Amino acid sequence: MIVDFQNDFTPGGALAVPEGDAIAAPLARLLDRFDLVVATRDWHPPDHGSFDGVKLAPGEWRGRGPAATWPVHCVQDTPGAELHPALDRAKVDVIVDKGADASEPGYSAFDGTGLAELLRHRGVDRLFVAGLATDYCVRQTVLDALDVGFAVVVVEDAIRGVDVEPGDSAGAIAEMRTAGAVFVRSDELT
Ligand SMILES: [Zn+2]
Repeated sequence: MIVDFQNDFTPGGALAVPEGDAIAAPLARLLDRFDLVVATRDWHPPDHGSFDGVKLAPGEWRGRGPAATWPVHCVQDTPGAELHPALDRAKVDVIVDKGADASEPGYSAFDGTGLAELLRHRGVDRLFVAGLATDYCVRQTVLDALDVGFAVVVVEDAIRGVDVEPGDSAGAIAEMRTAGAVFVRSDELT
């Protein structure tokens, strides 16, 4: 599973993750080794409640953190929301869009997407997860995957974090580990 490897999350994008494009090389080495490759996209409406400046009605925001904290990013059908060009689309079997509900952050690939059912239907019991960003969408996707019963392996050199506060990514990695995720390097898999 490749989480949110999109133009807006890579250098030059609206909400660039430092070195976000550096995950391309390990991904390219790994993709052929998997039966099913799922790529998620942050896929927001233009008035998404996470966007700086968007005004929500009182009580409308259902995220745990505050609303209106991010620059406008990954708006549906814009170039910023497209998968990064270094990701070979021919090797992606399924694209899962998330974050379409304006009143929720949409960090998790399992939130309202039907992804757990899709994976079970395909006989998947273990997920290998890579992508962006370690401390937001990767973290929440991994925690939810574990929560609904999948084994999760995180490819540690194929994730990058935002680190709004120093140490956020390290904290997220510790949290994922504690929840049961296993961390490996891509060269251990090839
Ligand atoms: Zn977003």
